[in-house]
Amino acid sequence: MLVIEAKLKGTQVQYGKLDEAIRTGQFIRNTCLRYWEDNKGVTRNDLQKLCAVLAKNKEFPWAKKLNSQARQAHADRAWSAIQRFYENCRLGKSGKKGYPKYKKFSRSVEYKNSGWKLSADRRQITFTDGFEVGTMDLWSSRDLVWYVAPTGAPASLREKQISRVRVIRRADGYYAQFLVDWDRREEHEFQGKMTGIDLGLKEFYTDSDGNTVDNLRYLRKSERRLKRLQRRVSKKHVQGKKQSNRYHKVRKALAKQHLKVSRQREDKARKDALAVVKSNDLIVYVRRSRCRRLDLKIRNMVKNHHLAKSISDASWYQFTRWLQYFAKVHGVIVIAVQPHNTTVDCSCCGAKLKKTLSTRTHKCNKCGTVLDRDHNAAKNILAKGFKLLAEYLNSTVGHTESDPKRVKAQGETDLWLKNGDALALSWLNELRISAAENPPL
Ligand SMILES: [Zn+2]
Repeated sequence: MLVIEAKLKGTQVQYGKLDEAIRTGQFIRNTCLRYWEDNKGVTRNDLQKLCAVLAKNKEFPWAKKLNSQARQAHADRAWSAIQRFYENCRLGKSGKKGYPKYKKFSRSVEYKNSGWKLSADRRQITFTDGFEVGTMDLWSSRDLVWYVAPTGAPASLREKQISRVRVIRRADGYYAQFLVDWDRREEHEFQGKMTGIDLGLKEFYTDSDGNTVDNLRYLRKSERRLKRLQRRVSKKHVQGKKQSNRYHKVRKALAKQHLKVSRQREDKARKDALAVVKSNDLIVYVRRSRCRRLDLKIRNMVKNHHLAKSISDASWYQFTRWLQYFAKVHGVIVIAVQPHNTTVDCSCCGAKLKKTLSTRTHKCNKCGTVLDRDHNAAKNILAKGFKLLAEYLNSTVGHTESDPKRVKAQGETDLWLKNGDALALSWLNELRISAAENPPL
Protein backbone atom coordinates (compact mmCIF):
# COMPACT_ATOMS: atom_id res chain seq x y z
CA MET A 1 0.00 0.00 0.00
CA LEU A 2 1.30 3.34 -1.03
CA VAL A 3 -0.10 6.76 -0.14
CA ILE A 4 0.26 9.63 -2.53
CA GLU A 5 -0.92 13.05 -1.57
CA ALA A 6 -1.88 16.03 -3.68
CA LYS A 7 -3.20 19.43 -2.75
CA LEU A 8 -6.70 20.19 -3.99
CA LYS A 9 -7.02 23.52 -5.75
CA GLY A 10 -10.49 24.93 -6.27
CA THR A 11 -12.88 27.71 -5.35
CA GLN A 12 -14.17 28.65 -1.90
CA VAL A 13 -17.53 27.22 -2.93
CA GLN A 14 -15.91 23.89 -3.71
CA TYR A 15 -14.05 23.88 -0.40
CA GLY A 16 -17.36 24.57 1.31
CA LYS A 17 -18.88 21.55 -0.38
CA LEU A 18 -15.96 19.39 0.65
CA ASP A 19 -16.65 20.52 4.21
CA GLU A 20 -20.23 19.35 3.81
CA ALA A 21 -19.03 15.96 2.63
CA ILE A 22 -16.65 15.72 5.60
CA ARG A 23 -19.45 16.59 8.03
CA THR A 24 -21.69 13.98 6.42
CA GLY A 25 -19.03 11.31 6.77
CA GLN A 26 -18.80 12.21 10.44
CA PHE A 27 -22.59 12.10 10.75
CA ILE A 28 -22.69 8.57 9.30
CA ARG A 29 -19.96 7.38 11.62
CA ASN A 30 -21.58 8.87 14.72
CA THR A 31 -25.01 7.56 13.80
CA CYS A 32 -23.59 4.07 13.40
CA LEU A 33 -21.97 4.36 16.79
CA ARG A 34 -25.26 5.44 18.37
CA TYR A 35 -27.02 2.52 16.70
CA TRP A 36 -24.46 0.14 18.18
CA GLU A 37 -24.93 1.65 21.64
CA ASP A 38 -28.72 1.43 21.43
CA ASN A 39 -28.96 -2.11 20.08
CA LYS A 40 -27.61 -5.46 21.13
CA GLY A 41 -25.49 -7.74 18.97
CA VAL A 42 -24.95 -5.24 16.18
CA THR A 43 -22.78 -6.59 13.36
CA ARG A 44 -20.79 -4.86 10.65
CA ASN A 45 -23.47 -5.89 8.21
CA ASP A 46 -26.14 -4.13 10.30
CA LEU A 47 -24.17 -0.90 10.10
CA GLN A 48 -23.81 -1.26 6.33
CA LYS A 49 -27.57 -1.68 6.06
CA LEU A 50 -28.09 1.31 8.29
CA CYS A 51 -26.28 3.44 5.71
CA ALA A 52 -28.94 2.67 3.12
CA VAL A 53 -31.69 3.45 5.63
CA LEU A 54 -30.10 6.79 6.47
CA ALA A 55 -29.88 7.69 2.80
CA LYS A 56 -33.63 7.23 2.45
CA ASN A 57 -34.50 9.17 5.57
CA LYS A 58 -36.03 12.56 4.65
CA GLU A 59 -34.86 14.03 7.95
CA PHE A 60 -31.26 13.85 6.84
CA PRO A 61 -31.30 15.03 3.23
CA TRP A 62 -27.53 15.35 3.21
CA ALA A 63 -26.92 11.64 3.91
CA LYS A 64 -27.84 10.50 0.44
CA LYS A 65 -25.68 13.17 -1.16
CA LEU A 66 -22.61 11.27 -0.06
CA ASN A 67 -21.59 8.50 -2.42
CA SER A 68 -22.98 5.14 -1.25
CA GLN A 69 -19.58 3.45 -0.99
CA ALA A 70 -18.26 6.44 0.91
CA ARG A 71 -21.16 6.04 3.34
CA GLN A 72 -20.11 2.47 3.83
CA ALA A 73 -16.51 3.49 4.35
CA HIS A 74 -17.65 5.68 7.23
CA ALA A 75 -19.78 2.91 8.71
CA ASP A 76 -16.57 0.88 8.60
CA ARG A 77 -14.78 3.60 10.51
CA ALA A 78 -17.33 3.25 13.29
CA TRP A 79 -17.04 -0.51 13.10
CA SER A 80 -13.27 -0.52 13.43
CA ALA A 81 -13.50 1.76 16.48
CA ILE A 82 -15.95 -0.73 18.01
CA GLN A 83 -13.76 -3.66 17.08
CA ARG A 84 -10.71 -2.03 18.62
CA PHE A 85 -12.60 -1.56 21.86
CA TYR A 86 -13.73 -5.20 21.91
CA GLU A 87 -10.23 -6.35 21.13
CA ASN A 88 -8.76 -4.36 24.02
CA CYS A 89 -11.37 -5.83 26.36
CA ARG A 90 -10.68 -9.32 25.12
CA LEU A 91 -6.95 -8.94 25.68
CA GLY A 92 -7.67 -7.63 29.17
CA LYS A 93 -5.70 -4.46 28.68
CA SER A 94 -5.29 -2.49 31.87
CA GLY A 95 -6.45 1.09 32.04
CA LYS A 96 -8.62 2.66 29.41
CA LYS A 97 -10.09 0.30 26.85
CA GLY A 98 -10.69 2.90 24.19
CA TYR A 99 -14.46 3.04 24.32
CA PRO A 100 -15.53 4.49 20.93
CA LYS A 101 -16.12 8.21 21.06
CA TYR A 102 -18.33 10.46 19.00
CA LYS A 103 -16.36 12.60 16.60
CA LYS A 104 -16.90 16.33 16.66
CA PHE A 105 -14.17 17.68 14.45
CA SER A 106 -13.56 15.16 11.71
CA ARG A 107 -11.17 16.45 9.11
CA SER A 108 -11.56 13.86 6.43
CA VAL A 109 -13.97 12.01 4.21
CA GLU A 110 -13.19 8.77 2.47
CA TYR A 111 -14.24 7.52 -0.96
CA LYS A 112 -13.76 4.01 -2.26
CA ASN A 113 -13.87 3.17 -5.97
CA SER A 114 -16.70 5.44 -6.94
CA GLY A 115 -17.84 9.01 -6.41
CA TRP A 116 -14.73 10.44 -8.01
CA LYS A 117 -12.85 10.34 -11.28
CA LEU A 118 -9.37 11.26 -12.39
CA SER A 119 -8.73 13.12 -15.63
CA ALA A 120 -6.72 11.33 -18.30
CA ASP A 121 -3.54 13.20 -17.41
CA ARG A 122 -4.23 12.70 -13.70
CA ARG A 123 -3.87 16.39 -12.96
CA GLN A 124 -7.52 16.83 -12.04
CA ILE A 125 -10.09 15.04 -9.95
CA THR A 126 -13.85 15.27 -10.33
CA PHE A 127 -16.13 14.43 -7.43
CA THR A 128 -19.31 13.00 -8.86
CA ASP A 129 -21.55 12.44 -5.85
CA GLY A 130 -24.48 14.55 -4.63
CA PHE A 131 -22.39 17.33 -3.12
CA GLU A 132 -21.54 18.41 -6.65
CA VAL A 133 -18.05 19.55 -5.80
CA GLY A 134 -17.06 19.21 -9.43
CA THR A 135 -13.56 19.27 -10.87
CA MET A 136 -10.52 20.37 -8.87
CA ASP A 137 -6.84 20.62 -9.75
CA LEU A 138 -4.35 18.28 -8.14
CA TRP A 139 -1.04 19.76 -7.06
CA SER A 140 1.62 17.29 -6.13
CA SER A 141 5.38 17.24 -6.02
CA ARG A 142 5.15 13.67 -7.23
CA ASP A 143 3.52 13.10 -10.53
CA LEU A 144 0.42 11.04 -10.08
CA VAL A 145 1.15 9.36 -13.38
CA TRP A 146 4.22 7.45 -12.41
CA TYR A 147 2.62 4.64 -10.43
CA VAL A 148 -0.03 3.66 -12.93
CA ALA A 149 -0.06 0.30 -14.65
CA PRO A 150 2.17 0.07 -17.74
CA THR A 151 0.89 1.74 -20.87
CA GLY A 152 -1.36 -0.53 -22.81
CA ALA A 153 -2.97 -1.99 -19.71
CA PRO A 154 -6.74 -1.60 -19.76
CA ALA A 155 -8.06 1.56 -18.15
CA SER A 156 -10.10 -0.44 -15.68
CA LEU A 157 -6.93 -2.00 -14.30
CA ARG A 158 -5.25 1.35 -13.98
CA GLU A 159 -8.12 2.82 -12.02
CA LYS A 160 -8.33 -0.21 -9.78
CA GLN A 161 -4.87 0.39 -8.40
CA ILE A 162 -6.30 3.26 -6.38
CA SER A 163 -8.36 1.63 -3.68
CA ARG A 164 -9.33 4.75 -1.74
CA VAL A 165 -9.37 8.49 -2.01
CA ARG A 166 -9.35 10.44 1.22
CA VAL A 167 -10.06 14.16 1.31
CA ILE A 168 -8.35 15.84 4.24
CA ARG A 169 -8.70 19.36 5.59
CA ARG A 170 -5.52 20.81 6.98
CA ALA A 171 -4.49 24.20 8.32
CA ASP A 172 -3.22 25.25 4.91
CA GLY A 173 -5.89 23.80 2.67
CA TYR A 174 -7.50 20.64 1.34
CA TYR A 175 -5.66 17.53 0.24
CA ALA A 176 -6.50 14.34 -1.59
CA GLN A 177 -4.76 11.19 -0.48
CA PHE A 178 -4.67 8.32 -2.94
CA LEU A 179 -4.20 4.87 -1.47
CA VAL A 180 -2.57 2.75 -4.10
CA ASP A 181 -2.37 -1.04 -4.07
CA TRP A 182 1.17 -1.48 -5.04
CA ASP A 183 3.92 -3.71 -3.84
CA ARG A 184 7.04 -1.66 -4.11
CA ARG A 185 10.29 -3.55 -4.64
CA GLU A 186 13.83 -2.27 -4.86
CA GLU A 187 17.01 -4.10 -5.73
CA HIS A 188 19.16 -4.49 -2.63
CA GLU A 189 22.85 -5.16 -2.75
CA PHE A 190 23.64 -7.58 0.04
CA GLN A 191 27.01 -6.82 1.58
CA GLY A 192 26.81 -8.72 4.82
CA LYS A 193 26.50 -5.58 6.91
CA MET A 194 24.39 -5.42 10.03
CA THR A 195 23.70 -2.84 12.65
CA GLY A 196 22.02 -2.25 15.97
CA ILE A 197 20.60 1.16 16.68
CA ASP A 198 19.67 2.85 19.92
CA LEU A 199 17.64 5.94 20.48
CA GLY A 200 19.87 8.50 22.11
CA LEU A 201 19.21 11.41 24.38
CA LYS A 202 21.84 13.65 22.94
CA GLU A 203 21.80 12.28 19.40
CA PHE A 204 18.82 11.01 17.49
CA TYR A 205 20.38 7.58 17.40
CA THR A 206 23.71 5.79 17.76
CA ASP A 207 24.49 2.60 15.86
CA SER A 208 26.63 -0.34 16.92
CA ASP A 209 29.64 0.99 14.99
CA GLY A 210 29.50 4.15 17.04
CA ASN A 211 28.11 6.36 14.27
CA THR A 212 25.57 8.93 15.30
CA VAL A 213 22.79 10.77 13.56
CA ASP A 214 21.82 13.99 15.23
CA ASN A 215 18.61 15.88 15.55
CA LEU A 216 18.45 18.52 12.89
CA ARG A 217 18.95 22.07 13.90
CA TYR A 218 16.27 23.45 11.62
CA LEU A 219 13.80 21.27 13.42
CA ARG A 220 14.80 22.89 16.72
CA LYS A 221 14.33 26.29 15.14
CA SER A 222 10.86 25.47 13.86
CA GLU A 223 9.94 24.15 17.27
CA ARG A 224 11.08 27.29 19.02
CA ARG A 225 8.80 29.24 16.70
CA LEU A 226 6.03 26.81 17.55
CA LYS A 227 6.44 27.52 21.24
CA ARG A 228 6.42 31.25 20.67
CA LEU A 229 3.21 31.09 18.69
CA GLN A 230 1.68 28.85 21.32
CA ARG A 231 2.39 31.48 23.96
CA ARG A 232 0.90 34.24 21.82
CA VAL A 233 -2.25 32.25 21.20
CA SER A 234 -2.83 31.62 24.90
CA LYS A 235 -2.17 35.28 25.68
CA LYS A 236 -4.71 36.47 23.15
CA HIS A 237 -7.35 33.99 24.26
CA VAL A 238 -10.15 35.56 26.30
CA GLN A 239 -12.18 33.23 28.46
CA GLY A 240 -15.92 33.22 27.80
CA LYS A 241 -15.92 35.90 25.10
CA LYS A 242 -15.92 36.02 21.36
CA GLN A 243 -12.31 35.85 20.24
CA SER A 244 -10.72 38.74 18.41
CA ASN A 245 -9.61 38.66 14.79
CA ARG A 246 -6.06 38.92 16.02
CA TYR A 247 -6.54 35.77 18.05
CA HIS A 248 -7.78 33.85 15.02
CA LYS A 249 -4.90 35.10 12.94
CA VAL A 250 -2.34 33.82 15.43
CA ARG A 251 -4.28 30.59 15.91
CA LYS A 252 -4.11 29.92 12.19
CA ALA A 253 -0.41 30.70 12.10
CA LEU A 254 0.08 28.23 14.94
CA ALA A 255 -1.79 25.49 13.11
CA LYS A 256 0.33 26.07 10.03
CA GLN A 257 3.52 25.92 12.06
CA HIS A 258 2.39 22.61 13.58
CA LEU A 259 1.92 21.29 10.09
CA LYS A 260 5.34 22.48 9.03
CA VAL A 261 7.09 20.85 11.99
CA SER A 262 5.31 17.56 11.49
CA ARG A 263 6.19 17.54 7.81
CA GLN A 264 9.83 18.26 8.57
CA ARG A 265 9.90 15.47 11.13
CA GLU A 266 8.32 12.99 8.77
CA ASP A 267 10.74 13.95 6.06
CA LYS A 268 13.73 13.43 8.30
CA ALA A 269 12.42 10.12 9.63
CA ARG A 270 11.97 8.86 6.08
CA LYS A 271 15.41 9.91 4.90
CA ASP A 272 17.22 8.51 7.94
CA ALA A 273 15.38 5.20 7.68
CA LEU A 274 16.13 4.81 3.98
CA ALA A 275 19.82 5.48 4.56
CA VAL A 276 20.01 2.77 7.23
CA VAL A 277 18.16 0.22 5.11
CA LYS A 278 20.25 0.91 2.02
CA SER A 279 23.54 0.20 3.74
CA ASN A 280 22.58 -2.79 5.89
CA ASP A 281 21.21 -6.31 5.46
CA LEU A 282 20.16 -6.78 9.07
CA ILE A 283 18.90 -4.06 11.33
CA VAL A 284 18.02 -4.38 15.00
CA TYR A 285 16.36 -1.55 16.82
CA VAL A 286 15.01 -1.12 20.28
CA ARG A 287 11.30 -0.91 20.53
CA ARG A 288 10.03 2.29 22.06
CA SER A 289 6.37 1.89 21.56
CA ARG A 290 3.99 4.72 22.00
CA CYS A 291 2.64 2.61 24.82
CA ARG A 292 1.83 4.83 27.75
CA ARG A 293 3.60 2.70 30.30
CA LEU A 294 6.92 2.93 28.50
CA ASP A 295 6.53 6.61 27.89
CA LEU A 296 5.98 7.09 31.58
CA LYS A 297 9.09 5.11 32.28
CA ILE A 298 11.08 7.40 30.06
CA ARG A 299 9.49 10.42 31.63
CA ASN A 300 10.39 9.22 35.11
CA MET A 301 13.86 8.42 33.99
CA VAL A 302 14.29 11.87 32.60
CA LYS A 303 13.29 14.42 35.15
CA ASN A 304 14.80 17.17 33.09
CA HIS A 305 12.01 18.55 30.94
CA HIS A 306 14.17 19.50 27.98
CA LEU A 307 15.58 16.03 27.71
CA ALA A 308 12.14 14.49 27.91
CA LYS A 309 11.06 16.71 25.10
CA SER A 310 13.99 15.81 22.98
CA ILE A 311 13.08 12.15 23.34
CA SER A 312 9.60 12.63 22.03
CA ASP A 313 10.89 15.05 19.44
CA ALA A 314 13.23 12.45 18.14
CA SER A 315 10.26 10.88 16.40
CA TRP A 316 11.54 7.44 17.10
CA TYR A 317 8.20 5.91 16.34
CA GLN A 318 7.97 7.54 12.93
CA PHE A 319 11.50 6.52 12.15
CA THR A 320 10.95 2.85 13.00
CA ARG A 321 7.77 2.77 10.96
CA TRP A 322 9.69 3.96 7.91
CA LEU A 323 12.42 1.49 8.78
CA GLN A 324 9.93 -1.37 8.57
CA TYR A 325 8.51 -0.05 5.36
CA PHE A 326 11.83 0.33 3.57
CA ALA A 327 13.07 -3.00 4.91
CA LYS A 328 10.11 -4.63 3.28
CA VAL A 329 10.74 -2.79 0.03
CA HIS A 330 14.43 -3.72 -0.01
CA GLY A 331 13.96 -7.23 1.33
CA VAL A 332 16.23 -6.82 4.35
CA ILE A 333 15.63 -8.10 7.86
CA VAL A 334 14.47 -5.87 10.67
CA ILE A 335 14.19 -7.05 14.24
CA ALA A 336 12.68 -5.11 17.11
CA VAL A 337 13.91 -5.97 20.59
CA GLN A 338 12.88 -4.87 24.06
CA PRO A 339 15.21 -2.34 25.68
CA HIS A 340 15.72 -4.31 28.95
CA ASN A 341 19.29 -4.14 30.23
CA THR A 342 20.71 -2.80 27.00
CA THR A 343 22.27 0.18 28.75
CA VAL A 344 23.27 -1.76 31.86
CA ASP A 345 25.12 -4.70 30.32
CA CYS A 346 28.69 -4.45 29.18
CA SER A 347 28.68 -5.22 25.48
CA CYS A 348 32.08 -6.88 25.78
CA CYS A 349 31.93 -9.13 28.84
CA GLY A 350 28.27 -8.94 29.88
CA ALA A 351 28.96 -7.55 33.35
CA LYS A 352 26.17 -5.39 34.73
CA LEU A 353 26.97 -1.77 35.31
CA LYS A 354 24.23 0.48 36.61
CA LYS A 355 24.30 4.00 35.25
CA THR A 356 22.50 7.17 36.05
CA LEU A 357 21.18 9.16 33.16
CA SER A 358 24.01 11.64 33.36
CA THR A 359 26.65 8.93 33.00
CA ARG A 360 27.58 9.36 29.37
CA THR A 361 30.39 6.82 29.23
CA HIS A 362 30.33 3.11 29.81
CA LYS A 363 33.46 2.13 31.80
CA CYS A 364 33.51 -1.56 32.61
CA ASN A 365 35.52 -2.30 35.76
CA LYS A 366 35.65 -5.99 34.90
CA CYS A 367 37.06 -6.06 31.38
CA GLY A 368 38.14 -2.45 31.04
CA THR A 369 35.96 -1.60 28.05
CA VAL A 370 35.37 2.11 27.61
CA LEU A 371 32.60 3.14 25.23
CA ASP A 372 30.09 5.88 24.73
CA ARG A 373 26.97 4.91 26.64
CA ASP A 374 24.73 4.79 23.57
CA HIS A 375 27.33 2.99 21.50
CA ASN A 376 27.52 0.27 24.15
CA ALA A 377 23.73 -0.01 24.16
CA ALA A 378 23.59 -0.25 20.37
CA LYS A 379 26.06 -3.15 20.47
CA ASN A 380 23.89 -4.92 23.02
CA ILE A 381 20.85 -4.34 20.87
CA LEU A 382 22.51 -5.89 17.84
CA ALA A 383 23.60 -8.90 19.90
CA LYS A 384 20.08 -9.29 21.24
CA GLY A 385 18.53 -9.25 17.81
CA PHE A 386 21.18 -11.59 16.58
CA LYS A 387 20.49 -14.10 19.32
CA LEU A 388 16.82 -13.97 18.50
CA LEU A 389 17.45 -14.52 14.84
CA ALA A 390 19.73 -17.47 15.57
CA GLU A 391 17.04 -19.04 17.74
CA TYR A 392 14.53 -18.44 15.02
CA LEU A 393 16.73 -20.03 12.38
CA ASN A 394 17.38 -23.03 14.59
CA SER A 395 13.72 -23.65 15.12
CA THR A 396 12.42 -23.04 11.63
CA VAL A 397 15.17 -23.81 9.14
CA GLY A 398 13.59 -24.84 5.89
CA HIS A 399 10.38 -22.97 6.51
CA THR A 400 11.62 -19.44 6.21
CA GLU A 401 11.72 -19.32 2.45
CA SER A 402 8.28 -20.73 1.90
CA ASP A 403 6.71 -18.84 4.74
CA PRO A 404 7.80 -15.25 4.55
CA LYS A 405 4.97 -13.85 6.60
CA ARG A 406 5.45 -11.96 9.77
CA VAL A 407 6.45 -14.25 12.59
CA LYS A 408 5.92 -13.67 16.27
CA ALA A 409 8.96 -14.99 18.04
CA GLN A 410 9.30 -15.37 21.79
CA GLY A 411 6.24 -13.32 22.51
CA GLU A 412 8.41 -10.35 23.37
CA THR A 413 9.40 -9.16 19.99
CA ASP A 414 8.51 -9.11 16.36
CA LEU A 415 10.75 -10.61 13.77
CA TRP A 416 10.26 -10.08 10.09
CA LEU A 417 11.67 -12.40 7.52
CA LYS A 418 10.89 -11.56 3.98
CA ASN A 419 10.83 -13.64 0.91
CA GLY A 420 13.95 -13.56 -1.20
CA ASP A 421 16.19 -13.53 1.84
CA ALA A 422 17.83 -16.81 0.95
CA LEU A 423 21.13 -15.10 0.30
CA ALA A 424 20.99 -13.03 3.45
CA LEU A 425 19.97 -16.02 5.51
CA SER A 426 22.85 -18.12 4.28
CA TRP A 427 25.52 -15.75 5.42
CA LEU A 428 23.68 -15.08 8.64
CA ASN A 429 23.74 -18.79 9.22
CA GLU A 430 27.50 -18.80 8.88
CA LEU A 431 27.78 -15.89 11.21
CA ARG A 432 25.61 -17.70 13.68
CA ILE A 433 28.05 -20.58 13.82
CA SER A 434 31.04 -18.33 14.35
CA ALA A 435 29.07 -16.36 16.91
CA ALA A 436 28.32 -19.53 18.84
CA GLU A 437 32.03 -20.32 19.05
CA ASN A 438 33.05 -16.85 20.09
CA PRO A 439 30.79 -14.93 22.42
CA PRO A 440 28.91 -12.44 20.25
CA LEU A 441 30.50 -9.06 19.74
ZN1 LIG B 1 33.02 -5.58 30.44
